[in-house]
Amino acid sequence: MLILPSQQTTTSMSAHLAQTMTLLGLTLEELQQKIDSELASNPALELLEERICPMCKRPLPPQGPCPICSQPSSSESQDPIVFISPREDFYTGSASSTGEVPEEPFVSESIDLPSYVLRQAATDLPTEDRLIAAYILTHLDEDGFLTTTALEVARYHHRLPSEITALIEKLKRCDPVGVCSANPIEAMLAQVEALSETVTVPAFTREVVAKYLHQMSQHHYPEIARALGTSSQQIQKIMAFISENLNPFPARAHWGDVRNPNSNDSQVFHQPDILIYHLNENPANPLVVEIILPIRGTLRVNPLFKSSLKQLEQDKTEEWRGDIEKANLLIKCIQQRSNALRLLLERLVVIQKDYILRGDLEMKPLTRAEIAGLLDMHESTISRAVSSKTVQLPNKKIVPLSIFFDRSLSHRTLIKQMIEQEDHPMSDSEIQGLLQEQGIKIARRTVAKYRSMEGILPGNLRQSKTR
Ligand SMILES: [Zn+2]
Repeated sequence: MLILPSQQTTTSMSAHLAQTMTLLGLTLEELQQKIDSELASNPALELLEERICPMCKRPLPPQGPCPICSQPSSSESQDPIVFISPREDFYTGSASSTGEVPEEPFVSESIDLPSYVLRQAATDLPTEDRLIAAYILTHLDEDGFLTTTALEVARYHHRLPSEITALIEKLKRCDPVGVCSANPIEAMLAQVEALSETVTVPAFTREVVAKYLHQMSQHHYPEIARALGTSSQQIQKIMAFISENLNPFPARAHWGDVRNPNSNDSQVFHQPDILIYHLNENPANPLVVEIILPIRGTLRVNPLFKSSLKQLEQDKTEEWRGDIEKANLLIKCIQQRSNALRLLLERLVVIQKDYILRGDLEMKPLTRAEIAGLLDMHESTISRAVSSKTVQLPNKKIVPLSIFFDRSLSHRTLIKQMIEQEDHPMSDSEIQGLLQEQGIKIARRTVAKYRSMEGILPGNLRQSKTR
């Protein structure tokens, strides 16, 4: 169990904690890289090719999960089976015995949104701007919107705000176009700019996107036309253009690909951190939760290294002892990372079982703070554990682990379904009324927010699409 020290803050204890917290926030690949670089730099750390179960310490078969830990505790038990599983299809670590590390042992199949954008932008940027671009890209939310401002970035990096704004404008033009915008309107405007280079954008589109989207959703075409000094017909044309070409949530298209594990697209996360499936793929069986540990073999402190300590001269022992301590610490912290994830998943899978089995409509509202309370962990520990991890569900869909804390998902899904089944384009108030009939009381502007979070345009803009 991950226990955070409150009183005793000895140096080793806080180093321990800091490293566990860092490891907890890493994705599978980042952890892999970390282990890889430790193996290369620390002679006291070694990777045994033998696979040993991280849970029960029994030797494992060359492939597949632990035959003991992946089974239910009793035949009647319907509790989820949660266990840590060392990866099989990875680099074997044979290089550690020769002292060499292959140049690129783990060729990554997947790439995250910030890296994807940075890769496109980097070639045109001077080195010092690349660093700032990387910094900006670490401040994106799940929709690809900026969670910081040009001003803050400028202050942090001691640059002129106008320089940062120019840099952000460059990033916005990367695929998915509009990424790094402050909000949906800004993202759509960036898309209009990009499109205008290749297609004819109807006159006044920018003005409508910037100022009149709201009036547009309320059918106020003649008013908008008058305000802009154009015709209602032109406004209709703009409406059609918007609904055909613009995406208020640029990063959602990105995740859309990610959610399709069958896609061969190179920008897809192929390697979930956690697998959830039914035991023996039989829906009547309990759920199995496999938390992947990105090590093929088993990490340990080199016993030879340890035993030769005695034969060393005084001045060398210090250094070797340090290496051994560092190796021990890494091994311990990796175990704690695994444990924290296991405890978290044990609870999450029980709480969100309906979602896992039946889908988005069944997501229960849950906060990181609530589960932290249940597990007697710090909320920050939970946040680290959840961040940048992905889960593969029994239906093979890969979702971010943070989806389990998406409080509005079930309502959003319901709204999406209502719109899919509508016989006429419903206004947000009509949707609000229908929800109320089902006992769900949310404000009309919340309906509007959820609708736009699903990337669905207002009723009258939808109308233009079906025509
Ligand atoms: Zn085991």
